[in-house]
Amino acid sequence: MMSLIGLDLAELQALLAPDRPHHVRRLYQAINRDRQFDYGAIPDLPDSLRGRLADLPLGLPRVEQTFTSSDGSLRYLLTLADGRTIESVFMPESRRDTICISSQVGCLVDCRFCLTALMGLERSLTAGEMVGQVLLLLAQLAPDVHNRRFNIVMMGMGEPLLNLPNVLKATRVLADSRGMNISPRRLTISTSGITPKLAELAVAPVRPRLAISLNASSEEQRRELMPITRKYTLAGLLKACGEYAAVTGDAILFEYVLLDGVNDSDADAQRVAALLAPLGEAAKLNVIALNPAPGIPFAPPAPERVVAFQQIVRRTLPCFLRKPRGRDVYAACGQLKRMDAPSGENGLYRLPVHVG
Ligand code: SAH
Ligand code: SF4
Repeated sequence: MMSLIGLDLAELQALLAPDRPHHVRRLYQAINRDRQFDYGAIPDLPDSLRGRLADLPLGLPRVEQTFTSSDGSLRYLLTLADGRTIESVFMPESRRDTICISSQVGCLVDCRFCLTALMGLERSLTAGEMVGQVLLLLAQLAPDVHNRRFNIVMMGMGEPLLNLPNVLKATRVLADSRGMNISPRRLTISTSGITPKLAELAVAPVRPRLAISLNASSEEQRRELMPITRKYTLAGLLKACGEYAAVTGDAILFEYVLLDGVNDSDADAQRVAALLAPLGEAAKLNVIALNPAPGIPFAPPAPERVVAFQQIVRRTLPCFLRKPRGRDVYAACGQLKRMDAPSGENGLYRLPVHVG
C-alpha cells in the first residue's frame, strides 16, 4: 500500500502537487523533521493538497506492546498495515542512544544461534516501514530524547542485504537534510554476508556503515553455525570485504557471537585475528556473548572466556566487548521473534516484564 512515510521529496511532489513545491515541502518537513503526524495540524496547506492527502495514509506502524528491560532498553512490538508484526528496540546509553530496527518480517538466513531464524521469512519491509520505525520510536520516547544524539542500527529482524533497494531508499530518506537529517555515518547495517550485494552497496551514493556477522573462525565452523556459508564462503566474503574497504575507504565492523565451547577457544581467537589481519586498519571486531533463548542449542561462555578471547584478538586489531542489552525482555540481538501471543508457542518466550 502506498503511504507517505518513506517517500522522498521528489516522489511526494510528483504524487501530490507538482505545481506547489513549497507546500509539499512543508508537509514533508512537518512529518520527517518535526514528527507532526496529524495532517490537520500542519498549518497553511491548501485545501486541494489536504484533499489529496485524505487518500494517502501516513503509514506509521502501530505500537502493539512495549517491554521495558531493567537496563532501560525498550522493546517495541509493532504492527504493520497488513497486520504483520515486527520489533524495534531503543537502547539508552550515556553518550549516544541506539535505535535498532528491523529490515524484514522474519529472516530467510538460517543461523543456528538466532531466534529470528526460527520464524522463516514472511516478507521484506518497504522503505517506509523502516523509516516509520525510527519516526515512531522517536515520537514515542520522552521529549528529552529528541534532543539527544542517537545511532540507528539495522540489526533487528531480517537480512538487510536481501532487501537492499529498500534499505538504500530508507537510508536516503533518513539522511535527507531537508527531513530527518540523520548522517548515514550514524546508520549501520549488519549482514550475515550476502557476498554479491557488497559491491552494490559499495557504490551507493548514500551509504550506511557496514557490519559483518563473522561468528566463526574457519570455513567449516561457519558452515555449521551459518549454513549460508555453503553458498557464500568465508573466503569469498573476506575477499569481498577487502574490495569493499578498498572501493569505499570505509572501515568494516565485524561481529562475533561467542558460543560456549563452540567458537570461543584461544585457537579460535588466533584464527579470527589471522583472518582479519589482511584487512589492516579497515577491520574492527565486536564480540558479544550469546544471548540465550529457548530453542537455541548453545550457551554463553563464562565472562573470563569472553575477556580472554578479546585479549588475544586485541594483539592484532581493535576488539571491543558488546554488552548485552535488554536480555530480560528478549530485546537483545538474536532474540527478536515477535513474542506477541499471550499463550501457545510464542508465549513460552514471554518473560516477566519490568515496568519503569
Ligand atoms: N541479519 C543481520 C542483522 C540482524 S542479526 C545479521 O545477521 O547480521 C544482528 C546481530 O545479532 C548479528 O551480528 C548476529 O550474529 C547477532 N546474533 C544473532 N543471534 C544472536 C544471539 N542469540 N546472541 C547474540 N547475538 C546474536
Ligand atoms: Fe537472519 Fe541475522 Fe538471525 Fe542470521 S543472525 S538468522 S541473518 S537475523
